Amino acid sequence: MAHSKALLVLENFIGGKFVPCSSYIDSYNPSTGDVYCRVPDSGKEEVEAAVKAAKDAFPVWSSKSPLERSQILNKLADLIEHDLEAFAQAESKDQGKTITFARTVDIPRAVYNFRFFASSILHHVTECTEMPAVGCVHYTLRAPVGVAGLISPWNLPLYLLTWKIAPAIACGNTVVAKPSEMTSVTAWMMCKILEKAGVPPGVVNVVFGTGAKAGEALVCHPDVPLISFTGSTLTAQRITEKSAPHCKRLSLELGGKNPAIIFDDADLSQCIPTTVRSSFANQGEICLCTSRIFVQRGIYSEFLKRFVAEAKKWKTGNPSDPTTSVGALISKEHLEKVRNYVKKAQAEGARVLCGEGVDPLALPPGNQKGYFMLPTVIVEVKDESCCMQEEIFGPVTCVVAFDTEEEVIERANGVKYGLAATVWSSNVGRVHRVARRLQSGLVWTNCWLVRDLNLPFGGMKASGIGREGAKDSYEFFTEVKTITIKH
Ligand code: NAD
Repeated sequence: MAHSKALLVLENFIGGKFVPCSSYIDSYNPSTGDVYCRVPDSGKEEVEAAVKAAKDAFPVWSSKSPLERSQILNKLADLIEHDLEAFAQAESKDQGKTITFARTVDIPRAVYNFRFFASSILHHVTECTEMPAVGCVHYTLRAPVGVAGLISPWNLPLYLLTWKIAPAIACGNTVVAKPSEMTSVTAWMMCKILEKAGVPPGVVNVVFGTGAKAGEALVCHPDVPLISFTGSTLTAQRITEKSAPHCKRLSLELGGKNPAIIFDDADLSQCIPTTVRSSFANQGEICLCTSRIFVQRGIYSEFLKRFVAEAKKWKTGNPSDPTTSVGALISKEHLEKVRNYVKKAQAEGARVLCGEGVDPLALPPGNQKGYFMLPTVIVEVKDESCCMQEEIFGPVTCVVAFDTEEEVIERANGVKYGLAATVWSSNVGRVHRVARRLQSGLVWTNCWLVRDLNLPFGGMKASGIGREGAKDSYEFFTEVKTITIKH
């Protein structure tokens, strides 16, 4: 394919060196529709080299003390923070997200991921029990597992990749990471500062490419005993199948169809702006985004009026404009898929109150070919509709009415997913009752996306297997051994 402007060409990072690849994939700037970057189209050969480098680096890295590793992680955090603006600009251009979101969420969180695990790794203790009657003491030891395979999606590129790299290397593993082929740039930028941070060659290897070629080669590699994956439920099924012959340890962080339940005693002045944010932040491309809003009948009309008014305040357009709230969706295909959901809902008799097909979308001249879509609110939609059952992963949310607590719990649980939910009510007893019964790995009440990285993160049902967090990631990325001493 002929390209008019000079393209950014990425290279794999293997054994501490940048290595060119024999073939490349085009990567698009979602806000202009232009190809601007070429990403290595790695396969078995590149994965083989990366796994070998990671295996070679393992003995030295795994025998360093947690304190030594912690210091390196902190240095890496400082270096990313030093270049925060460059990372944020790159993430916004590569992913389509607003510069504001990249500056305030993605990159600060990537920095914090390294700082957090640099600290938490120093504070784990293992167990010990005694059996005086038989003269035995038992204790446990935890050791890194080996080469960790890390596969991440395109919605929060550096944020989610570092959420895996940081705990994996803090625990003493070495890694082969494969970011999404659609958003590889910030991972490549991070590789450039690893040496300066003191990360020895081979500890972090990054292989770029598609899921089918590079991802699957990593999943099938016999010397990669664990895979930490964040992405869609469909891909997770494939990964589970492919890794089964090797009995690999898997952590699967998958999709969601997250409900917000709004009772008539909710503080709407807090609830409405937060629920607009939980529906449309990052173009609705966050696994934790709300996409089913259940509102108690008595406040339904008032809620809708105020919710739509608030949603309309969100400006859609050029992601590098700091006043923009909604940037571009990741790809042309994804935009088409999200738009089709709206069409299907309309065909089933649902009504679109604002956004797609209803309001005009005015874009600056440079963004006419970008993949933009207005925040869209759908009503009069049945619980069985695909818009209420399937993950849309775009700026689309459905609002429906409910009458009783019992009814709304059943309806909220009536999907295959179970990642996150929000509950809005000023009745403390009700908040506890509902939170306990929701089939959801995370429940936020009277707030959204308030995270303490110490606590388990992950979903139930089709939203995942396993949890990540301080203790959970430590347990996933280490192997435990019980030792019994008889005296
Ligand atoms: P995806 O499953 O298509 O891809 C995710 C990653 O897996 C990419 O790097 C991709 O190249 C790779 N991959 C694809 N096929 C593969 C295969 N056969 N073998 C190995 N690797 C393969 O997901 P996506 O479209 O990039 O991301 C969106 C999805 O991720 C949504 O479903 C979203 O909910 C989910 N997600 C979940 C969380 C969470 O923490 N639960 C966070 C963010 C995103």
